Amino acid sequence: MKIDIMTLFPEMFKETLGTSIIGNAIEKGIVDIEYTDIREFSNNKHNKVDDYPFGGGKGMLIKAEPVYEAVMSKKKESSKVIYLSPKGKVFNQDMAIELSKEEHLILVCGHYEGIDQRAIDLCIDQEISIGDYVLTGGELGAMVLSDAIIRLLPGVLSDDESFEIESHYNGLLEFPQYTRPRIFKDLKVPDILLSGNHKKIEEWRFKESIKATYKNRPDLLMNRKFTEEEKKVLDEIKNIRDEKK
Ligand code: SAM
Repeated sequence: MKIDIMTLFPEMFKETLGTSIIGNAIEKGIVDIEYTDIREFSNNKHNKVDDYPFGGGKGMLIKAEPVYEAVMSKKKESSKVIYLSPKGKVFNQDMAIELSKEEHLILVCGHYEGIDQRAIDLCIDQEISIGDYVLTGGELGAMVLSDAIIRLLPGVLSDDESFEIESHYNGLLEFPQYTRPRIFKDLKVPDILLSGNHKKIEEWRFKESIKATYKNRPDLLMNRKFTEEEKKVLDEIKNIRDEKK
């Protein structure tokens, strides 16, 4: 996969995306990330890319031309161009999975009060937000998308780190995990995890997964088509909660 990132601040990325699992993926050639400084397309000797919004209002906007030219300098027929924006659809794991199938992503980072709408109309395929809050720039969003997408690419995670058992992959949150020591500050690792009984461990994890989702993110269960097994576990959890009330 190739990812091109359009930004006014390329220096923000190198440390973050060059480290650990994502850094290894780049080294192994599974993904190639390139940064384009939008300022290089400013077309003026002061490298100025922003201007006042028509109609008044606070702050400055990045002009359409440098964004458009920066994107077009990399865009191919197979490219998917994404603008990181608080007005976009909120990013989630399903979107990460879909985007991991793309050959070429171009991520456009806004700054100041955003970018001129005509650049969005002319060259953006999709607007994506990383959450319902406003950031200073799209750079953190581009890092979030890149990280979530790259770790799904074949060969990035080892078999031991498979994403199929992680939170959100199957619409549920992950079960609690423990490592050594067996007792920490009087808290014991659940006996079942030390039993060596893999079937029972699977059942426990499945139940804990549903429990965690019900407790922390009940919204994820709203549109879920429950299997009989899941319904049974959920009823059990609800009964325990009702008894506690
Ligand atoms: N005036 C814009 C608005 O009210 O929608 C906000 C602009 S924001 C200060 C500057 C840039 O940060 C945006 O152009 C966008 O690229 C990025 N940004 C801010 N919040 C974001 C979010 N939640 N998700 C993704 N990108 C975001």
